[in-house]
Amino acid sequence: MERVRINIYGIVQGVGFRPFIHKAVIDHRLTGYIKNTSSGVEIEAEGDASEIEKFISTLPEKAPKLAVIENISVKHGLPIIGYKDFEIKSSRTDKMRNTLISPDICICDDCLRELNTPGNRRYKYPFINCTNCGPRFTIIKDVPYDRVKTSMGAFPMCHDCEEEYHDINNRRYHAQPDCCSVCGPEVFFAHGRDDENITGNAAIEQARRELKDGRIIAVKGLGGIHLACRCDMPEIVSELRLRKHRDEKPFAIMCRDTAAAEKLCEVSDEEKKILESFRRPITLLRKKIPGTYMHLSENEYIGIMLPYTPLHYLLLGDDIDMLVMTSANISDEPIIYSNDEALEKLSDIADGFLLHNRDIVTRCDDSLCWTLDGHEYFARRSRGYVPFPVRADTSDMLFAAGAEQKASFCLSKENYVFPSQHIGDLKNYETLENYEQQAEHFKRLFDIVPAAAACDMHPDYLSTQYAESLGVPLLKVQHHHAHMAACMADNDLEGKVTGLIWDGTGLGTDGTIWGSECLSGGYGGFDRIASIKPIPLIGGDRAVKEIDRVAFALLSLSGESACSEFESSAQYAEMLSRSINCPLSSGMGRLFDGAAAILGIKDRASYEGQGAVLLEAAAERGGCRPDGEYPIEFYEEGGTVFFDWRPIIKEMVNDRRRGKAAGALAAVFMNTLMKMAVEECTRTGNERVVLSGGTFQNMYIMHTLPGMLEKAGFEVFRHRRVSCNDEGISLGQLCVLQYHLRSQR
Ligand code: ZN
Ligand code: ZN
Ligand code: FE
Repeated sequence: MERVRINIYGIVQGVGFRPFIHKAVIDHRLTGYIKNTSSGVEIEAEGDASEIEKFISTLPEKAPKLAVIENISVKHGLPIIGYKDFEIKSSRTDKMRNTLISPDICICDDCLRELNTPGNRRYKYPFINCTNCGPRFTIIKDVPYDRVKTSMGAFPMCHDCEEEYHDINNRRYHAQPDCCSVCGPEVFFAHGRDDENITGNAAIEQARRELKDGRIIAVKGLGGIHLACRCDMPEIVSELRLRKHRDEKPFAIMCRDTAAAEKLCEVSDEEKKILESFRRPITLLRKKIPGTYMHLSENEYIGIMLPYTPLHYLLLGDDIDMLVMTSANISDEPIIYSNDEALEKLSDIADGFLLHNRDIVTRCDDSLCWTLDGHEYFARRSRGYVPFPVRADTSDMLFAAGAEQKASFCLSKENYVFPSQHIGDLKNYETLENYEQQAEHFKRLFDIVPAAAACDMHPDYLSTQYAESLGVPLLKVQHHHAHMAACMADNDLEGKVTGLIWDGTGLGTDGTIWGSECLSGGYGGFDRIASIKPIPLIGGDRAVKEIDRVAFALLSLSGESACSEFESSAQYAEMLSRSINCPLSSGMGRLFDGAAAILGIKDRASYEGQGAVLLEAAAERGGCRPDGEYPIEFYEEGGTVFFDWRPIIKEMVNDRRRGKAAGALAAVFMNTLMKMAVEECTRTGNERVVLSGGTFQNMYIMHTLPGMLEKAGFEVFRHRRVSCNDEGISLGQLCVLQYHLRSQR
């Protein structure tokens, strides 16, 4: 006979944990109680010592899917009380503010079975859910997590649902969003604001019919509204592009199941695991046949996700195995999430609307990732992951504002950092407004009052201006230093590392734009060991999209005649020779853009980074990985070495003239830069290398460079829990700030 007290920390509330424990204690013939605490649950168990041992040891593997057990502490040898039974003590809600909130989770197998079982009282009911699945973060208005504080508060439970809710042996015990067709939300279909609504399953059937007929339908999801259409007919997809003003960016596809995804793409076992995971990210999968489905994606990957709401499952089916599912938004505005806004703003884009009356409280875009070593490698960490925190070596309540184009913020409390969902480009007013609202929402949900803040050094970033408005001590962190710190924190590193930071743009400490950085340092500071020869951006920001401007500058400075190649050559030459509006940039993204234009792959980008994406795709389409590389030359200036790209530009032009294929040269170009990286890293004297920055979304590089560095004796770290692009920067800013605060004490 023994009595123990067990404290379990992590996401263990609102996820079916107490019923799970209740069953387990019966199995092990234990008595005692369970109650929620501010940071998890507390269990007292009395019974046979070996049964207690078994009970504890099987907790982690048997816990409900949504539960995340971070730590279990056990106090043995308490005096026997003689509990008669096992009690579930009701929670003291005011103390629950530390509790973590679960992300939104896709429909579980049990609910899916019920959804498809005629006679079940939730047969074909599009809002079926249970403690193991359904909406969470996107419907929560406030804590503690309770139905009345979610958008399900508008739907009082019927008698039957209430009974399930109170039945400890039911899968829906204390499932806050639980409902049925009697008491819950209702789906409807309309062609527009003034059209009469079709409700219930007839609405879904109508949407299915119209989709099959080639119409574009707005569909309400978990964190926002999608635009859906057939993906097998290029003319329909291009109509959607036309209406959405989205010329060339790839569209995400929702496939009925993995088998359907395998029609388009290769799906490895590792990718399948992530594709089918209950977080349901959009997974970037390599096309089965290079160069196919160009109307969906102009590069060699297609972003595919599986259905995650019951409504999605009812929408797809035997006769619809895949659909384009792209976020409904107007250019750079945030994703549309309310019915009214959808009916108003999408009236010219969508032919029909499949909506419902359960409000989305918080916007949350689909997450987007590749698979590397069996793990997610994020381009966007959002739905399904947010607002789950990242464990880090933090202790203070802090705010980090992030960057600008791929804005996200972080808040910290104790050992948790809470990265926000994907927010978007703050230059758009609605996006900035959403950023500010989300920052307030997170502070309230997690009860965080920041004592200090961090932001980028760039004075014009709207995130910087927001951080300045907070009225707390503010630390400005150099952009690439923040990238490096983010990747360190992502891998729990301390001390000194080499940061290989390649991205498009970030303000340097010298006032020029950086972006091909080899840094040496840690949270406390850095030395700039290496970079690349700065490139004059003819016309400043215009060169980000008009990438022929970059090509012209690269060619001219390399002594190659560029005059015949580009339309506006005379004007570019004039600006370049007189240095009119030609700010210098050592951004790796710009070098890639320029190379793409020189190789004839693309001369105008319709979105930032397109040149780099297409250059990678051209190399991948070659189907091979040529060994070739160009000579590498550095020059030194002020203690930093700079890679001189002029020799490789000359070689590239010569190879082009000799008729070598652009794809092969694109590969040689990237090989050269990777070799440059290895040389730079040997100059730092550090053993550990962290890779961060948006250029590391290039899978050709991510599949090659780590191996090259390891072969040269380095230990290589990449992002694991946050994105390598600017979305991940807020984590780095926060960790630099924490370091500074500690070193001041
Ligand atoms: Zn379920
Ligand atoms: Zn009901
Ligand atoms: Fe960056």
